[in-house]
Amino acid sequence: MTIYTKARETSWLVEIEDFSTMRILIVDNSADTRELIRTYLTKAGCSSFLFAASVDQAYQLLRCDDDTTWPECPAVDLILMDIIMPDISGGAACRKIRTIECYKDTPIIMLSAAADIALLEGAFSNGATDYIKKPVRKIELLARICTALKLKKEMASRKAWEKEIVTLATQLKEANKKLNKLSMTDGLTGIANRRLFDKKIEHEWRRAHRAQQSISLIMIDIDYFKLYNDNFGHQAGDKCLTKVAAALRNTLRRPADFVARYGGEEFVAIIPETNCSTANEIAEALRSAVVTLQIPHARPDKTNLVTISLGVFSMVPDTGQPFHELISKSDDALYKAKFNGRNRVSTI
Ligand code: GH3
Ligand code: MG
Ligand code: MG
Repeated sequence: MTIYTKARETSWLVEIEDFSTMRILIVDNSADTRELIRTYLTKAGCSSFLFAASVDQAYQLLRCDDDTTWPECPAVDLILMDIIMPDISGGAACRKIRTIECYKDTPIIMLSAAADIALLEGAFSNGATDYIKKPVRKIELLARICTALKLKKEMASRKAWEKEIVTLATQLKEANKKLNKLSMTDGLTGIANRRLFDKKIEHEWRRAHRAQQSISLIMIDIDYFKLYNDNFGHQAGDKCLTKVAAALRNTLRRPADFVARYGGEEFVAIIPETNCSTANEIAEALRSAVVTLQIPHARPDKTNLVTISLGVFSMVPDTGQPFHELISKSDDALYKAKFNGRNRVSTI
């Protein structure tokens, strides 16, 4: 019979894995009640207790007034507290304990007599978890503690999940950002790729149209690049492309100016809010920057350096006009630069 009773007693707390290591604070001015609860809980397997005969004593044990030790407050897994205490009401005590971060989720179970309804309301509105009627009965005590601790455990695991989800969402956002950037970057040269250019030109074109401002495009092509590859090899050609791309990017200093690899050994620059004469100056600076790289080349003309030809076209967009004209006209200008001897800037 005794064995049967013991088995039933512990089965109440089977779902609280580490009940034996739980630390429970019992706050009651009655020494008899403290002792009764301790006995019940000890029989159920709990071995760690803190006792307070007043709320003030409980504050001291919980170090509620000691800011310097926060957040290293004493580990308390559950608080059982009499609702009527000689010094401070249980409700006020709840409110104060809840202000401390590490006790925000600690279950606080009030011990109350049947007539304490108003006090109980106060305690619940100040964060009490549950209540047990006095005189304390063992079955009620264990059942309420069991429920409160289960709830705390579930809340903790939900919070951990939420935190993990937030972390994962942040990581995903970062990864997407990186992926998006990668998808807009030319793999060889590290500057913007054709895809980003296609987006950018539409955007800048619309903006120029709205503001009725001039927008300029510079088409850029490396001179005799096939020959460069033939002479120095494809890998050297790749290095040359990368150096030229960096020179173009570093020469465009205004934040709004934009350069992309258009394809192969061709590049394109968008120069917003700029008329033809300024765009020509910028193109000339780009040409000069590539000459300054002093990359040796063996070519049919006398210029034994890698150079670029540039075609510039500027216009103020008209209503309904597509931006393709800007591209085709600067392409025509580039052809003119090639035709007129390369390593030069042309416009039409
Ligand atoms: P032009 O002065 O008239 O522009 O002559 P070009 O030889 O530069 O022009 P063409 O269009 O005949 O040749 C372009 C060359 O660019 C051919 C191609 O192998 C090379 N090229 C294109 N993309 C790459 C690349 O990613 N890496 C390397 N190394 N070469 C490339
Ligand atoms: Mg070409
Ligand atoms: Mg070329």
